[in-house]
Amino acid sequence: MRDLDLLPKAHLHLHFTGSMRVSTLADLAQRHGIRLPSALLDDDPLHVPADERGWFRFQRLYDAARACVRGEQDMRRIVAEAVADDAAEGSGRLELQVDPTSYAPFVGGITPALEIVLDEARAASARSGVDVGIVVAASRMRHPLEARTLARLAARHAGDGPGEVVGFGLSNDERRGETGAFAPAFAIARRAGLASVPHGGELLGPAHVEDVVGHLHPDRLGHGVRSAEDPHLLERVVDEGIALEVCPASNVSLGVYPSAADVPLRALVDAGAQVALGADDPLLFRSRLTAQYETARTVHHFTDHELADLARASIRASRAADTVRARLLAGVDDWLAGVRPV
Ligand SMILES: [Zn+2]
Repeated sequence: MRDLDLLPKAHLHLHFTGSMRVSTLADLAQRHGIRLPSALLDDDPLHVPADERGWFRFQRLYDAARACVRGEQDMRRIVAEAVADDAAEGSGRLELQVDPTSYAPFVGGITPALEIVLDEARAASARSGVDVGIVVAASRMRHPLEARTLARLAARHAGDGPGEVVGFGLSNDERRGETGAFAPAFAIARRAGLASVPHGGELLGPAHVEDVVGHLHPDRLGHGVRSAEDPHLLERVVDEGIALEVCPASNVSLGVYPSAADVPLRALVDAGAQVALGADDPLLFRSRLTAQYETARTVHHFTDHELADLARASIRASRAADTVRARLLAGVDDWLAGVRPV
């Protein structure tokens, strides 16, 4: 059986704080004298129902983790470790998602907050061989004008090289905020050549996907798994070439599906959707990138050829430069052919 850690892939759905190692979180909390909720440090993955109370619990833990990130050194460490962990799992391209707003108070504003992340992403790319791009993500919980400010900041750093901004996202509780109100921010990002990569169709069903597709014109949808509930909508998603960043462990942790077997991975792929597997928030879901491919193999019975196709889809859905994509795609062929990487 081929080693999934050696399968070259692109990781397109990973959040900055959520990427943290548990040991790093514990260390940062101790350094800053912060008491963490025990659920953040125990061995079990988070498991909540997919309702408002469940999301509140997830958000409370996430906020507690974020509160431990208090300056440039902490931020650089998180990026560096996320990239090192991705490298160990065969990721050749990481598009790490960050909302610089949360860290701005500690470093003098959103501009330095983003520049620290970009600078470390560039350094980590050179060290690890993983090509790292950044997605700047706005929050549904904040005013849409703040999203425009973030989009303008993101636009200034647009590019497909390591340590450049490749996309603009929208995250947090899908039930909050009016999707259409964020359209001007996405228009700014699009004019700068950034990919549109909002979350959608995770907690809410097909109507939410339609809302996001109609207003924000996504190149990729964060999750989008609920598209599977409406064949016409799924057909539209496939026809428009919107890739889906599917995160099985996240879906189960957040109660979107009762078990990994219920995640409609096979249905999405069979319908022709471009699926890029992602880990979302391994800090809370205790499951990293390769584990998502393991789930496809063991739970959904994907053959090695089908797993290679998933990896290819992730690489093609990435915003890496053509040379990087070509190198990674050739690596997938080698993996299938049994050529050991040197
Ligand atoms: Zn996410």
